[in-house]
Amino acid sequence: MIAIQDILDTITKEAKAESHKGKVANYIPELAKVDKNKFGIGLLDEHGRLFKAGDAEERFSIQSISKVLTLSMAFGLLGNDLWKRVDVEPSGDPFNHLSLLEMENGIPRNPLINAGAIVIADVLISQLKNPKEAFLEYVRNITNDPSIAYDTHVAASEQKTGFRNYAAANLIKSFNNLHHPVEEVLDFYFHACSLSMSCEQLVHVFYMFSNRGKCLRNHEYLNTNQIKRINAIMLTSGFYDEAGEFAFKVGLPGKSGVGGGIVALLPGKFCVATWSPGLNEKGNSKLGMQALEKLTTRIGLSIF
Ligand code: GLN
Repeated sequence: MIAIQDILDTITKEAKAESHKGKVANYIPELAKVDKNKFGIGLLDEHGRLFKAGDAEERFSIQSISKVLTLSMAFGLLGNDLWKRVDVEPSGDPFNHLSLLEMENGIPRNPLINAGAIVIADVLISQLKNPKEAFLEYVRNITNDPSIAYDTHVAASEQKTGFRNYAAANLIKSFNNLHHPVEEVLDFYFHACSLSMSCEQLVHVFYMFSNRGKCLRNHEYLNTNQIKRINAIMLTSGFYDEAGEFAFKVGLPGKSGVGGGIVALLPGKFCVATWSPGLNEKGNSKLGMQALEKLTTRIGLSIF
């Protein structure tokens, strides 16, 4: 029997002692205020047992981790027609890169880079009467946790400084791959990114990706084949131009956010979330990646 709790406690102690913690994102001013000494980790196993250590109950801005959730909602509503609007190839580029979008006629490489998530936001606006409320409800229902909320300060902060996202949205719009006004699409996109959740809450929402589309209460949100597709996209594209490195070191599908969170999962076995606000040069949590590499190495399990 692997002593998961002992492993999480040791990983947390090591992370807290680490002196090089990376750099907190400051291009969204509100995120720059976060204490980089925070470190949390939570793991939910296939039996629904929760293990946690460090600051696992503290909420933070999940940022791009939300891209998996908007994608799964849009895929559930639209099915395979979704892939006419966004591709499923890794970009090998930073999350806010623009030139590929120009070369590929406004069809984003995948739904987990900013351009792709902006198209997904547009799809959800077409499908839903109140997209912001409906998306929040979706996340609250999966987790069975009505306390989950947007951080409107973070959303407003990004609204003022998200110049590259405005550029991407305008470029996509010029290729007719946005059906709604840029302002409206980005308002929804910024709110989705601003969702404030803890590692403990994140493993409860991502459990369904490790459990063939069913949440802890056994309600099915996506079928097995849809889950296969989303996990594949997480593996190939969840860490931008560091997706290869993450697969190489950690060996799990996952997704990062510039708030310092990472979620990853082993289908049929467990789902794990880490939070450490300091980022590496690629915009992924420095200590979060290290912690997950230690986890899969010490428990001896990965998808490979
Ligand atoms: N809201 C952020 C942005 O659009 C999300 C980026 C990220 O988490 N990688 O720039």
